[in-house]
Amino acid sequence: VNQMQRKPNWLRVKLPVGKEYAHVRSLVDTHKLHTICESGNCPNMGECWGAGTATFMILGNICTRSCSFCAVATGRPLAVDTDEPNRVANSVKLMQVKHCVITSVDRDDLKDGGSTIWAETINTIRRESPDTTLETLIPDFRGVWDNLDRVLATRPEVVSHNLETVRRLTKEVRIQAKYDRSLECLRRINEAGLRTKSGIMLGLGETEEDVLEAMADLLAVGVHILTLGQYLQPSRSHHPVVDWITPEQFEKYKVVGMEMGFKYVESGPLVRSSYHAEKHLFEF
Ligand code: SF4
Ligand code: SF4
Repeated sequence: VNQMQRKPNWLRVKLPVGKEYAHVRSLVDTHKLHTICESGNCPNMGECWGAGTATFMILGNICTRSCSFCAVATGRPLAVDTDEPNRVANSVKLMQVKHCVITSVDRDDLKDGGSTIWAETINTIRRESPDTTLETLIPDFRGVWDNLDRVLATRPEVVSHNLETVRRLTKEVRIQAKYDRSLECLRRINEAGLRTKSGIMLGLGETEEDVLEAMADLLAVGVHILTLGQYLQPSRSHHPVVDWITPEQFEKYKVVGMEMGFKYVESGPLVRSSYHAEKHLFEF
């Protein structure tokens, strides 16, 4: 069965149109920026870009890793672009972004894991747009915690690292990552006194029991904000969609998650890590 043809109604989205969308489009193109919205084929581009928000992806658009769910190209990345922090900061200023989300590819090829460019990007945005709140969706820095600390020292308002999937499927879904290393990364974010966020994709073959275990693990290391969304297959060579999780099931996870003790659970078929991110700035 062709799973693309089976895509349920609740995943249908509006096509990107409108003035604000065109504005974001032209800024991204003019400043040669990368967004995970585009690189990840996100279904929410119409909504988010139409509202003037986008998630910038720094450190290039080629990743050293090859997660089986991810649409970002894998390979040998280009040299680090030291002007990137300025261009991103400039665009954030021009877009008058209230809450800015930044992510990156993984740069396992670099000794600093890309953490210097990360810190420069955040510091430059802070300088240029002091009223903009920042959310950073960061890699695990291969467990080289000095590199993580370099980013945490810039004190973003929210720091996110996605667990992506349950323990049982981690090897298959994120071959170069480790479930426990991601938990340790999150524990350190919380320990630094920062709003800590993580996300899991559903529909990769996990059971409800697996999901509840992952939620408990995230809570145990101090994650405050959880996102749960439906996995969509970027191409036929990526991990298949095993299940379409119903909106009711997503709602159930949200209720359970809030009961378990998360401060915020964003759960629904179209939810992505950066979806409605501006709502996750709970009082600390
Ligand atoms: Fe971009 Fe995130 Fe919105 Fe998707 S949900 S369009 S990745 S900002
Ligand atoms: Fe995609 Fe991130 Fe995995 Fe790289 S590390 S392949 S960008 S999910």
